[in-house]
Amino acid sequence: MGVWKELLDFIFPPSCVLCGENGTHPLCHSCMEKIEIDPVCSTKMGLTVTSFSKYEDTTRALLARLKYDFQEQVGVIIADLMTPYLSTLAPRILIPVPLHFIKIRQRGFNQSAIIAKRLSKNLGWKYTPRLIIRQRNTKPQFELDDEERLANVEKAFARYPFATIRPDHPYMLVDDIVTTGATLASCAKTLKESGVTRIEGLTFARARNVN
Ligand SMILES: [Zn+2]
Repeated sequence: MGVWKELLDFIFPPSCVLCGENGTHPLCHSCMEKIEIDPVCSTKMGLTVTSFSKYEDTTRALLARLKYDFQEQVGVIIADLMTPYLSTLAPRILIPVPLHFIKIRQRGFNQSAIIAKRLSKNLGWKYTPRLIIRQRNTKPQFELDDEERLANVEKAFARYPFATIRPDHPYMLVDDIVTTGATLASCAKTLKESGVTRIEGLTFARARNVN
């Protein structure tokens, strides 16, 4: 294994996913410093959402690498940056916002699951990806205006068959980015219908200033 890795590193030197600097995979020091972490708690469509970074150039590029180039390591870095701020909280049960199976097949993975899984490992919080399914393959939210966003994700989620949802447990929905909060709110609605009362959202980026 070690020999193969060394050989591969020789043929394809590991480099920074943002600026391409050699020998600094996944991010070089200067790109890392450009990520501004500024956790903000706000209410989006009735749901408390904590987001960690404004959606500006570096954050946008980082999420694009994660989602479209399958740079799983980027999701790990994102989770590691969020961890110190969450470690003071009481444990929550982490649920990644699900992707539709067609999208999983196209992309090969769910970026929110990568972030949630790493947070679970870092914090020792429970990770439960099989509580909610995305039953409709919705259009990407960024293509739509606010009203269309809401309609787009309405009834998009459902309870996973045979899922055990515990109404008395605190749940945290994890996504890569929040804009209007329509996706998180629609997901939360599915849990609320199962009696859950303590539910909040967590995202790395926020595409809008908080209200
Ligand atoms: Zn760099």
